[in-house]
Amino acid sequence: MGSMIDPRSEVLIIGSGPAGIASALALRRQGVPFRLVEKAARLADTWASLYPSLNLNTSRFYSHLEGHRFPWRYGLFASGRQYHEYLVRVVEREGLVVEFNREVRRVSAEGGLWRVAFADGVVEHYRAVISATGIYGRPVWPAIPGMESFAGQLIHAHDYKHPEQLRGRRVLVVGTGPSGVDIAVAASQVAAQTAISMRSGVDLKRRYPLGLPIHAWLMLGLLLPRPACRRLMRAVSRIGYPQQERYGLRKPQGAGLTAYQGPELLRVVQRGLVQPVPGPTRFVPGGVILADGSCYPADLVVLATGYEPVLHDYLDVPMQFSQDAWHSPSPCDWELGPNGQRGFPLLDRAQHPNGRQVLGQPGLYIVGVYYKGKGALYNINVEARIAAEQIAAWWPKP
Ligand SMILES: Cc1cc2nc3c(=O)[nH]c(=O)nc-3n(C[C@H](O)[C@H](O)[C@H](O)COP(=O)(O)OP(=O)(O)OC[C@H]3O[C@@H](n4cnc5c(N)ncnc54)[C@H](O)[C@@H]3O)c2cc1C
Repeated sequence: MGSMIDPRSEVLIIGSGPAGIASALALRRQGVPFRLVEKAARLADTWASLYPSLNLNTSRFYSHLEGHRFPWRYGLFASGRQYHEYLVRVVEREGLVVEFNREVRRVSAEGGLWRVAFADGVVEHYRAVISATGIYGRPVWPAIPGMESFAGQLIHAHDYKHPEQLRGRRVLVVGTGPSGVDIAVAASQVAAQTAISMRSGVDLKRRYPLGLPIHAWLMLGLLLPRPACRRLMRAVSRIGYPQQERYGLRKPQGAGLTAYQGPELLRVVQRGLVQPVPGPTRFVPGGVILADGSCYPADLVVLATGYEPVLHDYLDVPMQFSQDAWHSPSPCDWELGPNGQRGFPLLDRAQHPNGRQVLGQPGLYIVGVYYKGKGALYNINVEARIAAEQIAAWWPKP
């Protein structure tokens, strides 16, 4: 099926998550027309299907879309459910049209345009495309020997939607990032027994160091000279729970693991409701053999082992990928970070220090890449604004 759309008339935005919505709002501000397509049957599918106890780990000050603050009743840290409800409201209020059930399968260059092939066989052509499909869509399944022999149920944190899945079972959660901790805490309320398996420890931080959320400290820090801001942020973000090691919750060695903000895990471990155990080495039919040689008998194992980038699954485009190591910059310094971090495509920085166009691919932009600094939900606004400004600079005026 061929294209009925005039390729010159609209920009295509792929994905209706925060990055796609921010891109639409930014293009509208620039007066550039767009279409917004989403593969699922509902808006921001990633957020629509998260487990109920999820709360944002970034505060209201830096998590909203530009021009749309969170309602005060959401408090300082909105829940995932509230955040999804918020996205739906913004889209309604702005009258954005989202085309649902339109999965993009392939984007490739053709005759100076972008050829976009959809799952239903429709092909359309565009002069400009914004890829806003989220970078961590593919759950990581670590290869632990013996998995196939395990007689219980093995799921990824991605498939955990409700505490009823945990009720009455002997649960082992593998992984100590925010999802692993949330799921272990939820299991402690309903499961027969719960353990959290940690290979490199767990990083527990205060949600309100010295009484204020970290983002409030950052707002104060940004009023200071840069070095003082860095020192302040280093000091407040270090404040954790010194007693955690006493309860078997080892501090991680080195950087890399995302910290969990809040005392919830420590509390349930103190009450004996969750047992911290070493990392898994092997599955056996009745459970998991741990690094200390013991066997944890489990009938449900939840792998909270993170996600891999899927950014470029459908981009059939020659891209150059960064070889740079991951950076952990101070939130005082970075809005958007370096040009690419390991595994991500290099972007064209010739016209703008944080340009969003894929290097060597005029008209192809990526929004929603950088997760450090002030946090992904904040950065998404900045990236969308830059992409829209860059497109508006060459888009024909009506
Ligand atoms: C559990 C969790 C908690 C997080 N909490 C925070 C937080 O508190 N603060 C923060 O700053 N960041 C947080 N993040 C990180 C980041 O803000 C989110 O991942 C955010 O959803 C990224 O927005 P996005 O629009 O880029 O991607 P997504 O929200 O994943 O949206 C992508 C959209 O694209 C659609 N799509 C995918 N492929 C296609 C295709 N081929 N064709 C058409 N549509 C497609 C998807 O269905 C989806 O609707 C969190 C991430 C996760 C996973």
